[in-house]
Amino acid sequence: MKVKQQLNQLKPYQPGKPIEEVKREYRLETVIKLASNENPYGCSPLAQQAIMKELDYLALYPDGYSRALREALASHVGVNEKQLIFGNGSDEIVQIVCRAFLQKGTNTVMATPTFPQYRHNAVIEGAEVREIPLQDGHHHLEAMLAAIDDHTRVVWICSPNNPTGTYVNDVSLRAFLDKVPKHVLVVVDEAYYEYVQAEDYPNTVSLLQQYENMMILRTFSKAYGLAALRIGYGIAHEHILQAIEPAREPFNTSRLAQVAALAALNDQTFIEQCAQQNKQGLNQFYTFCDEHSLRYYKSEGNFILIDFGFSGDEVFTYLLQRGIIVRSGCALGFPTAVRITVGSPEQNETIIRVLTNMLKERSEQFCEETF
Ligand SMILES: *Cc1c(COP(=O)(O)O)cnc(C)c1O
Repeated sequence: MKVKQQLNQLKPYQPGKPIEEVKREYRLETVIKLASNENPYGCSPLAQQAIMKELDYLALYPDGYSRALREALASHVGVNEKQLIFGNGSDEIVQIVCRAFLQKGTNTVMATPTFPQYRHNAVIEGAEVREIPLQDGHHHLEAMLAAIDDHTRVVWICSPNNPTGTYVNDVSLRAFLDKVPKHVLVVVDEAYYEYVQAEDYPNTVSLLQQYENMMILRTFSKAYGLAALRIGYGIAHEHILQAIEPAREPFNTSRLAQVAALAALNDQTFIEQCAQQNKQGLNQFYTFCDEHSLRYYKSEGNFILIDFGFSGDEVFTYLLQRGIIVRSGCALGFPTAVRITVGSPEQNETIIRVLTNMLKERSEQFCEETF
């Protein structure tokens, strides 16, 4: 048998290590997972209640149009109902976009390092992937523009960018959109939208009026705390969504995901509290980095990429042995860094204490070696 040859060049996605596995392997009672940008406060209790009520209907297919959620979300976001598409996580919308726009002979432009699923799905569709290195952790928009040609179909902007946490500001995004040819779809992935604090972060939904060739991706997996249920959405002009609709599975989001997302959406107090806690958590990490002269990018997401100046795998293993799971920068294109999800204040204190010990032990080791 022969699979598409593009698949041979792809490695399966490497998820953060599961908590249970780490407990067993290292014989630990408690393990903290700060690896996948999950919400340390879980989800709104209203979402759990909504799921309990929905359990009577598991025998029935979900509403393929997600009408109830669609109506509430349209009014929350401030768009018309037909300007929304739902996916089994925003991951699936990335897949749908690639299925719909890309094939051999086309190309797609993105930053590197960025969220790996853009590249992954584009490669499967046989498209050429043009990866433009970040400039000091930020999207290099001029170089991205220069990479666009007649065969470009999709440009990806991850803002805040995973794994750096940096964002594209309003002025830069507008200037970029002004220059992108109209035949190219610009996908702005705002998976961390609810956490953003920057004053000059663009209001992309309002930009849709001016720029028809744009699509915004958001998700219920991060701030809304519903990663297990797999539900995300895209916002775009109706004609774009109509055109890509045949590439979507008819029942791609489940009943439980739809009711939980609707209930979670109605609890904006929860989201605001999580965003506030996250901001304070980031400050805990900034203070730690500043005290130890470690380089980092200011983050608009719920994670921080810290450069330790030696192998990220080493930091990862040190933390893992002590019951803390993070992501090594080695797999993310930053070999001397780790990406840490902002946890609860206690979790943040714990990891900062362990990291402080690690730095102390290393500097003691160095002293011994030099004497
Ligand atoms: C987590 C993440 C997603 C995927 O989220 P799902 O909705 O769970 O599929 C998309 N984009 C970025 C940048 C992310 O970090």
